Parts: sequence; structure tokens; C-alpha cells
Amino acid sequence: MFQAAKQKYLLEQHFERFSPKAALIDMDGVLFDSMPNHCRSWVTVFRSLGFHFEDREAYLHEGRTGRGTLEILYRRELQRDPTDEEVDRMYGIKARLFDDMPEAPVMPGAPEALDAIRRSGIDRILVTGSGQRKLLDRLNLHFPGHFSEGRMVTAFDVTQGKPSPEPYLMGLKKAGVSAGEAVVIENAPLGIEAGKAAGIFTVAVNTGILEDEVLLEAGCDVLLHSMSQLAGLWPEIARNYSLV
Ligand code: CA
Repeated sequence: MFQAAKQKYLLEQHFERFSPKAALIDMDGVLFDSMPNHCRSWVTVFRSLGFHFEDREAYLHEGRTGRGTLEILYRRELQRDPTDEEVDRMYGIKARLFDDMPEAPVMPGAPEALDAIRRSGIDRILVTGSGQRKLLDRLNLHFPGHFSEGRMVTAFDVTQGKPSPEPYLMGLKKAGVSAGEAVVIENAPLGIEAGKAAGIFTVAVNTGILEDEVLLEAGCDVLLHSMSQLAGLWPEIARNYSLV
């Protein structure tokens, strides 16, 4: 599986070599099982406006900025853009609902996966569209020693959310590596699109409610089903991609 994915990637990117030095790791739905809380917050916001909005859609929009999600829904439901005031108010409500929810648990297998990546000598860089202080603050508590200051890309660093490649291009910059020297670890279709648009080999971990086909169609190079599976397979991934 890994060799075939590597060959396909090299052909597609016209790279001669693929030798990762850094893993660019998403946060929501990868390190924390926070998507159910994000989903409930968005559903509450949009239903309060009388919009049609199902759980599934929250997962399809995962990774977009709050403004980007609000614009799509306002255009569809009201045939107009939200005003800046509406964006601030509705995103403020969404963020408060999220903050009031029970703390999102650490994703099972995520600490083991990060430790396995560290053991293979690969740098870890966080790349998230989130600006949720609460989760960002918890990173050092649950994943000590993995993401130091300056090794994170958050909502505060970028102007465009996923699926723009900007967050992952910024991740490459912070890691000091090129696209052929990194691996993206993502759970959401727009995140996968962002990783691929940045030219990076993208491992999808399907931790949510969407079908595998949605993540495959987004263009991931490898599809796994849990962070525990990633932790278990990392030594094999590392061997196949000459990480060690
Ligand atoms: Ca995510």
C-alpha cells in the first residue's frame, strides 16, 4: 500500500525523491476528538437562523474559517453575503457554545502516534485553522514536548483557511522543509485538499462520520481509520518512505 502510494505521489508531483523530515499535523479530529462539539455548535447556530443544516455538512466544511462557512450558508439560504457584524456575532456565538461544552477528549491513539513519529526522528508541526485558545492551551498538557512555540500554524497565522494551501505552505516554512520533505496528517476533506494543493504527501485518518470515499475523492495518498492505526503502522510507513 505505502510503496504504491509513494510511486504515485512522485509521478504526480514530478519529484525524484520523497524523504520526509517533518509531519504537519492537524488538530481537530486528529489530536482531539473535538468535531462532535464543533458540529453541535454549528448546527445550533444555523438552526437558530432557520437554516437547513445537518451534522454531515459540519464535517464537510471542517477546516474552513468561520467566515467562510457563514458566507456559504448565508448565500445558500438567504441569497446574500453576511455583513461583517453578522459574521462577528454568529461566529462569536458558535465559539461560546463550543467553549461551554464538555472538554473534547484526546483522540485515542494520538499520543502514541506522536511518540512513534518522534522516535522516527521526524519533526512535528501543528497546522490548524482553529483559533480556539482552550484547545491550543491543552496541547502542551496532553502532548508534552511535541509542539513548541514557533512550531504551530493557527488561525492567527493565516488569512485563508483550508482548502487553501496557505496553512500547509506556512507549515513547510515553519518546519524549514520543502513539500517533498513533509507528510500531512489530516481527517477532513478540505484539509486533505489543502495538503495536496501544497504538494505534500497526505495521510488521511477517518475519525469522523463521513464515508471513506469522501476522503479518497479529496485526494489523500493513504487512508487510515484511527490514530491508533497510524501509531501501529508508523514504523512501516517510516521504512517505506526512508524516514529512518
Ligand atoms: Ca481536522
